[in-house]
Amino acid sequence: MKLITDSMLGRLTRWLRISGYDVLYVAGMEDDEILEMASAEGGRVLVSRDEDLCRKAANAGVQYVLIRSGEILDQLRQMKREAGVEFHGEPTFSRCPLCNGEVGRADKRAVEGKVPEEVLDRVPEFWQCRDCGRVYWHGSHWDRIRDMVGRI
Ligand SMILES: [Zn+2]
Repeated sequence: MKLITDSMLGRLTRWLRISGYDVLYVAGMEDDEILEMASAEGGRVLVSRDEDLCRKAANAGVQYVLIRSGEILDQLRQMKREAGVEFHGEPTFSRCPLCNGEVGRADKRAVEGKVPEEVLDRVPEFWQCRDCGRVYWHGSHWDRIRDMVGRI
């Protein structure tokens, strides 16, 4: 399942990407353009807080989830309930939360200079976004992610 999210859902977008979903984030775009993008490439499920846009999606035959809450935990729960999204306490790293690029294993030598030295010494495994080059590793933020997944 691929998704498309619109403005006001930046945080939800990052969460979905962390869980491995291909999420296109669009901001400042016309409704028609968004619906066209949702229909292209075999279809994306629209995720939005905009009731008007969701009504247009229904008319255009685009699947959608109308997000009702402004609270991230409620949003995540709604995505699980209504779209069957699976969240992982152990992130798959399959998508970059920043740019939606694919993330793969990276050699220690390849990330030298791109992460703090003490991290390089301490951490055995790294991943890197193939598009924007951002480097990821298991750190304390994954504890918080696991905690959040537990609450979902
Ligand atoms: Zn990236």
